Amino acid sequence: MVDLKGIFSRLRRTRFPFKFVYSDAYWMLDLGAHVFPIVKYRLIYEALLSEGIRKENLLTPQPASESELELVHTPRYVKKIMQGKLSQAEMLALELPFCPECVDFACLTVGGTIQAAEQALEDGLCFHIGGGFHHAFRDHGEGFCIFNDVAVSLEKMKREGRIQRAMIVDCDVHQGNGTAVIFSGKDYVYTFSIHQMDLYPAQKPHSSLDVGLWAGDGDDKYLPALEEHFPRIYEDFQPDLVYYLAGADPLESDQLGGLRISHAGLTERDRIVITNARRLGLPLVIVLAGGYTPDITDTVAVHMHTIEVARKAELRGASLFRREKQPPRRPG
Ligand SMILES: [Zn+2]
Repeated sequence: MVDLKGIFSRLRRTRFPFKFVYSDAYWMLDLGAHVFPIVKYRLIYEALLSEGIRKENLLTPQPASESELELVHTPRYVKKIMQGKLSQAEMLALELPFCPECVDFACLTVGGTIQAAEQALEDGLCFHIGGGFHHAFRDHGEGFCIFNDVAVSLEKMKREGRIQRAMIVDCDVHQGNGTAVIFSGKDYVYTFSIHQMDLYPAQKPHSSLDVGLWAGDGDDKYLPALEEHFPRIYEDFQPDLVYYLAGADPLESDQLGGLRISHAGLTERDRIVITNARRLGLPLVIVLAGGYTPDITDTVAVHMHTIEVARKAELRGASLFRREKQPPRRPG
């Protein structure tokens, strides 16, 4: 059993040095008896509330517009979703009980990741309590993913001239197939995915860098595989913005994933991805992506650990910044 109380009491000691994007509407979607734990959004929000998170730390997203969605998705696909005119095969690929509320949820989630990117460019880091729908392609959705929130957000930041180059660090246990195809051949985006090979999606289109592991590999193979590439890819590519999909589904007790990574291993993963980005001064957007443990508190604990790693990284950065702002000592 995970010591949630311990995590929360550590969080209580200091206020959050960054903002969260969240909407109550995220968890009001009724998927019935579905493996996707929509309730995790509320549980994370409530955990933060119990820690006394302040109103000014919370941002409420607006739904993405059709023109924003069409920065990535084909107008034909957007229209099909908006009108609910999916074929039986398309609905099966989505693996969701498709409904108008699903469309509202998908649009709001994209809006949330757009807002998180805008805020990260202001503050250095922003945490979206949602997002990470990386199996959505330009012209179709798969595996619970209707619209690719990270892809739309990234394209919007690029088109508006706020960034030149961006990196997507995808640590969900499933390969980021939609994201890989959307940005294939686009030299202003670097896509990294570390995932389980013997798992959906069967076809794994090339990301800029794919690291494939196998069921049961565990911390011993996972962490060195990450350390082999970080912080080097940050330093080589020099993105203006990093999106981190901090999926909880590599966890050992996950029902869908089989990598068998421990809680401590995932916290170390977060440290490698988050602390290295922030140490290099790279603005960072964190989104949740997947997580399917039978006991939801395990999934929530992984996400809370990610928040704790981000909090520590920002507090450390802030104290460094304060030191730099001190006047230089006079000689003698
Ligand atoms: Zn996943």
